[in-house]
Amino acid sequence: MTKKPRKTGLIFFPAFDWAISPTHPEREERLLYTQDQVFEEGLLDFENILEFKPGMATVEDINRAHICVPDARSVITESHLISAGGAITAADKVLRKEVDNAFALVRPPGHHAMLVVHGARGFCNINIEAVMVEYIRKHYGIRKVAIVDTDCHHGDGTQDIYWNDPDTLCISIHQDGRTLYPGTGFPEEMGGPNALGYTINIPLPPRTSDEGFLYTLENAILPILDDFQPELIINSAGQDNHYSDPITNMRFSARGYALLNDRLSPDIAVLEGGYSIEKALPYVNMGIILAMAGLDYDSVREPDFHAESLRQSDELTRKIERDVAEIHRLWKSRHSLKKKMVGDSRYTRRRKGIYYDTDGISEHQEETVRICEDCGGLVLIDSQADTGKRIYAVIIPHHACPACRLEGEDFFGKIPVQQYSHVYLQDRDKDNFQVKSR
Ligand SMILES: [Zn+2]
Ligand SMILES: [Zn+2]
Ligand SMILES: [Zn+2]
Repeated sequence: MTKKPRKTGLIFFPAFDWAISPTHPEREERLLYTQDQVFEEGLLDFENILEFKPGMATVEDINRAHICVPDARSVITESHLISAGGAITAADKVLRKEVDNAFALVRPPGHHAMLVVHGARGFCNINIEAVMVEYIRKHYGIRKVAIVDTDCHHGDGTQDIYWNDPDTLCISIHQDGRTLYPGTGFPEEMGGPNALGYTINIPLPPRTSDEGFLYTLENAILPILDDFQPELIINSAGQDNHYSDPITNMRFSARGYALLNDRLSPDIAVLEGGYSIEKALPYVNMGIILAMAGLDYDSVREPDFHAESLRQSDELTRKIERDVAEIHRLWKSRHSLKKKMVGDSRYTRRRKGIYYDTDGISEHQEETVRICEDCGGLVLIDSQADTGKRIYAVIIPHHACPACRLEGEDFFGKIPVQQYSHVYLQDRDKDNFQVKSR
């Protein structure tokens, strides 16, 4: 397979001083093995593969994507700023056209971090993709972005942050939530009233192999991307679908990951999970890097790879075909579904319980969204955690219409601060973040 080589940027940040615990798989060796492999295989000797140092994200960058309680500094470490900063560096290099695409091989990961952050869940404190996307919007004026999450776990944090944003298409493909953390990510989760259909969840059964992943890519993800026409495609490149991963049950291979990346052709890939430190990560990352750079990845193969033993059953193949057809049907009917869902109500309200498994915090949230035909709609969040903190947040969307803006500013002005420990205004449109506290 010979293709046109592309200039690919790589950003490494293994985060030596950040780990859940010394023996937990979420530790720096995850990246050190990969980094070694990249050097040993001489990938950096290719003229079209360039390495860049990660920059550092700022608190302002975080506040564009999150409501951190009580503030950004108190929920992150310096490693988080560099991890998000590495993703931002990847974006800068691509958007300044120094490279054609870029891969941020950084940790800590981020895709389980939701809009409101009371602590860490699923090893994530801040959502590094969302911090990057909001940075891109602010500095490069890009509007339509697609985030394709190929981590084995549902990208529930990314979904939450963009739930009400019709300009951000969030597609997550993951192991069925009935069999894996975080237990969500079903096709019925389709986004808020003004963004219905722009959250797409594709759960795959345990033991899905390369065949199933690539079928889903060709028949659901690529046609939907083609309809949506994003200005930028971001890949949350989790590698825990690998057949050797110790915490999941899939049968994806390094070559499968390379093929997927080649067809998806993301502008920016950001590493998420992947815990088979020696048996998978070095090969999967090699495959992805070669595919991004337009180089031959045919020789990428795990030493213990055995195609026959990884084959998925025919029954499973048929199930995936049915599920993919349903995903496509939901996408095509998104406009009529909105009418059915909202009727003539002016607001929608949803209540949700969020558990921060890493930090052992429970949160109860009530989200109110203004139904709007002209923008993503004003979002109001009342959030109470068992840490004793109760906060209120007013979110004015990008490209807010005058009515949503007016109502949002009015709410922020009038909200009784005594009831809450903090009241926040996140004006995504004017890039204005404000906090009031009692
Ligand atoms: Zn995913
Ligand atoms: Zn994962
Ligand atoms: Zn509006």
